[in-house]
Amino acid sequence: MKLELPVSGAALKIVSRLREAGFESYIVGGAVRDLLLDRQPKDFDISTSATPEEVRQVFGRRQCRIIGKRFRLTHVYMEQDIYEVSTFRSAPAENAGQPSEYTDKKHYVYGAKPENLILSDNSYGSAKEDAWRRDFTVNALFYDPITKEVLDLTGMGLADIETHTVRAIGNPALRFEEDPVRMLRALKLVAQFDFTLDNATENALFASLSLLRHAAASRLTLELEKILQSTYCDRHFEVFHDYGLLPYFLPEMSRVWGMPEQKKMLSLLYERNCRVDEGIYRNSVSLAIAAAAQPFVESAMANPPGALLKKHSGNLHEVISDTIERLFAPLTLMVRMREAACRILKMQRCFDDGAVCRRGELMNQRSYPHARELLVIRHTVENSSQLREISANWPAVEEKRRKQQEFDRQVGRGKRGGKKSYKNNKRNDKRDA
Ligand code: ATP
Ligand code: MG
Repeated sequence: MKLELPVSGAALKIVSRLREAGFESYIVGGAVRDLLLDRQPKDFDISTSATPEEVRQVFGRRQCRIIGKRFRLTHVYMEQDIYEVSTFRSAPAENAGQPSEYTDKKHYVYGAKPENLILSDNSYGSAKEDAWRRDFTVNALFYDPITKEVLDLTGMGLADIETHTVRAIGNPALRFEEDPVRMLRALKLVAQFDFTLDNATENALFASLSLLRHAAASRLTLELEKILQSTYCDRHFEVFHDYGLLPYFLPEMSRVWGMPEQKKMLSLLYERNCRVDEGIYRNSVSLAIAAAAQPFVESAMANPPGALLKKHSGNLHEVISDTIERLFAPLTLMVRMREAACRILKMQRCFDDGAVCRRGELMNQRSYPHARELLVIRHTVENSSQLREISANWPAVEEKRRKQQEFDRQVGRGKRGGKKSYKNNKRNDKRDA
């Protein structure tokens, strides 16, 4: 189907360079789905017939890096951004539908031996094979930005976009067994786009929920960080709860579901999401973590032990870090995100109890803009005149900070300026603590 989709100039350049070098290449996955749904994609992933080494030959060592072991792919640096370029993969027949007894918790593919996993993830194939090894039909669309053609290689993706359906590619039960994280990904689509699961996918999901226990914590943590980054995080948690997945993903959050703190958590996250979507404030994972934990910290400090912590010493720092740890247990968020969230939450105490902290000192702190934003969110949600008064006393310094960052970027002092930041992976680069 011919369609003019607004792809990023840099992604178009990468596809064109690969094409000129004689390789097939397309924009794939979430970006095509988002564009077809009229949403702004978070990033543009590219798939190609070129192997990682060939991609490196096309772009040169300075502009391109090969990363990953189990799933080798390349990062291409173009116009201040990083683009993931992966080689078309196939799902070898010996892996498809033949789960073994192997259930080592370190490996996310339940039932598949790790040595098969490495082979399977790095066995290259055609564009069609690549589409068929993807998770859902709506995630398996390819876009050719040169001919402006959408390729629906599973034959179901475009119709499913139209009807807002999440349909696993192939046998849903097997696909969830191969990789239980796909269940989480299916429900993210439900939460984010108001999609519905097709019957077979839904039945398989209900029957497979407990397999999520076998997923590697590192992959679940990555998904959690993406959820907290998104402006649908309140919906995500609700949908996970409604489908019965939450106890397997975030058991402690599930345990306190229905309590007043949990309800307030959703309201705070909702307000934060609206303000990000409306462009009032920027997106930050640490602010989302702090907003989620705030009601639990507040209740623990006011009326120990509160919903999450059974007992505590009363030390504010300890209460905050224990609350964050408990709320997302057994997953462990990145230290810098947790620490930033801790700072934001500690500052709420200073705001609420103005006498304790010195004003100038507080406003100069790195986390002040986020902390002040949480204060505003709290007063909106609680509709409290006292909090409104307090937040009126604390001015926004966001603009000043933004301008400084802009300046740093222009003079090359930004995140990507030095060798160290080049080494940091895409995950670090894209997340704003
Ligand atoms: P998001 O907007 O959250 O980035 P996405 O669909 O782009 O959504 P990614 O994690 O960026 O998610 O993955 C890119 C693509 O890779 C997906 O669209 C899908 O085609 C494929 N993919 C990702 N995870 C899996 C998986 N577990 N199994 C099969 N295919 C997957
Ligand atoms: Mg993506």
